[in-house]
Amino acid sequence: MCLKTYFTVCLLFFLGLLPWQTHSQQLSSAVKQFVAVSADTIALVHAIVIDGTGGPAKNDQAILIIKGRITKTGNTKNITVPASAKILDCAGKTVIPGMVMMHEHLFYGESLPPYYLGVEMPISFPRLYLAGGATTIRTTGSVEPQTDLNLKQAIDKGQMPGPDIDATGPYIERELLPIPEVQFIKSPEEAAEEVNYWIARGSTSFKVYMDITKDDLRAVVSIAHQHGLKVTGHLCSVTYREAAELGIDNLEHGFIPASDFVTGKKENVCAFGSVTPSLKNLDVNSPAMKDLMKFLIDKKVSITSTLPVFEPNTGRELCPGGGEQALAPQIKEAVEKNYNAQVGKDTSDISLFKKEMAWEKQFVDMGGRLMAGVDPTGAGRTVPGYADRHTLELLVEAGFSIPVVVKICSLNAAEYLGRDKEIGSIEEGKRADLVLIDGDIQKDIHAVRNTEIVFKNGIGYDSKKIFESVKGMVGLH
Ligand SMILES: [Zn+2]
Repeated sequence: MCLKTYFTVCLLFFLGLLPWQTHSQQLSSAVKQFVAVSADTIALVHAIVIDGTGGPAKNDQAILIIKGRITKTGNTKNITVPASAKILDCAGKTVIPGMVMMHEHLFYGESLPPYYLGVEMPISFPRLYLAGGATTIRTTGSVEPQTDLNLKQAIDKGQMPGPDIDATGPYIERELLPIPEVQFIKSPEEAAEEVNYWIARGSTSFKVYMDITKDDLRAVVSIAHQHGLKVTGHLCSVTYREAAELGIDNLEHGFIPASDFVTGKKENVCAFGSVTPSLKNLDVNSPAMKDLMKFLIDKKVSITSTLPVFEPNTGRELCPGGGEQALAPQIKEAVEKNYNAQVGKDTSDISLFKKEMAWEKQFVDMGGRLMAGVDPTGAGRTVPGYADRHTLELLVEAGFSIPVVVKICSLNAAEYLGRDKEIGSIEEGKRADLVLIDGDIQKDIHAVRNTEIVFKNGIGYDSKKIFESVKGMVGLH
């Protein structure tokens, strides 16, 4: 850059005329409309900070952000705030790291018997995740992998609001469930072909599904690992123990899909109807379950909790964490009808839900790595963003302390993704991905619903404005 240009650019920066170019990227007007805070230097002062490392909350903290990076943290009185800084007084507010959420499809699940549809939501879902505080997501199974990759690119280029995306390839699956969007494989060779094809196009992780064989999994893990990529699974035909032996990195939905306890289970066969009863019969303190957990921990297999999608109906919200206003009216009507039909009839689901919470706590207490996600499928009740915040509430209900809950939803996942040097906690040198919440979440965890500003890369997005922008859109686009 010639000197004259350099000085002109500096002058424009100084005058605040290039606010969108302060950190590395140009934002389109589609993104700019949601920006609430953008400045070269930003200081959050007097905040309650829960930093994502699992350490205790700290009061009266300051976070200094320069060009999208956290450059200084500490007690407000010890931090020198530059005169040029945009100062946000965060008294009475909580700051947590931008959430790193691990089961965040970009499609909405719709049950239309005999089919189950995955309907891509390219407009509403990326916005909802960001508005709810998720600054990084893994898609964990895709029905339109090319759309997901295009969305990721549009977000990275600043053309669309949304989180960073770890784009998972298509579901690797044999024919089992009537999901018309899934390409069913017939052999391990076809599984390998599919994985290679999508790696070449930019997929950065893979998910195997309920009816694969052990040989399919072996092929997928081998190729993914050769490329430094990870494999997760929502299993049924293959047990957790078998998958861990074959090198899987992560298992979805906590322990609810574990077919390890089905008596007389046949190898490579998904006895779909037997898994849930086998877990309902299992004692919450079952030594066999503890033994499985120990095996998973030894094999370094992480678990993803997806409590919102399993939330029972009785005594619970229509949409876990709220968000029914985001549903398209005809979708809301169908979801409501289904919900009302289940209320009062889900006693055994309630007890399995509680057991699942207890197992997740045991797994962490034993040293396992737990991450979390919302999974916007199931009966269509789970709305991204709203459910992401609610995940924090549910993990508190499961018995975790608030700092650990925050860690499960941030640093644990960042470590799994190999991105913990960059994101996942509020530490000097890391990217300024932060969620500013109005209220003290230690006093009342439900304050997480008051997300005010979500910072991604040091740019602060207006959470309420984004939520407002997608009202009535979920189920349509
Ligand atoms: Zn899923």
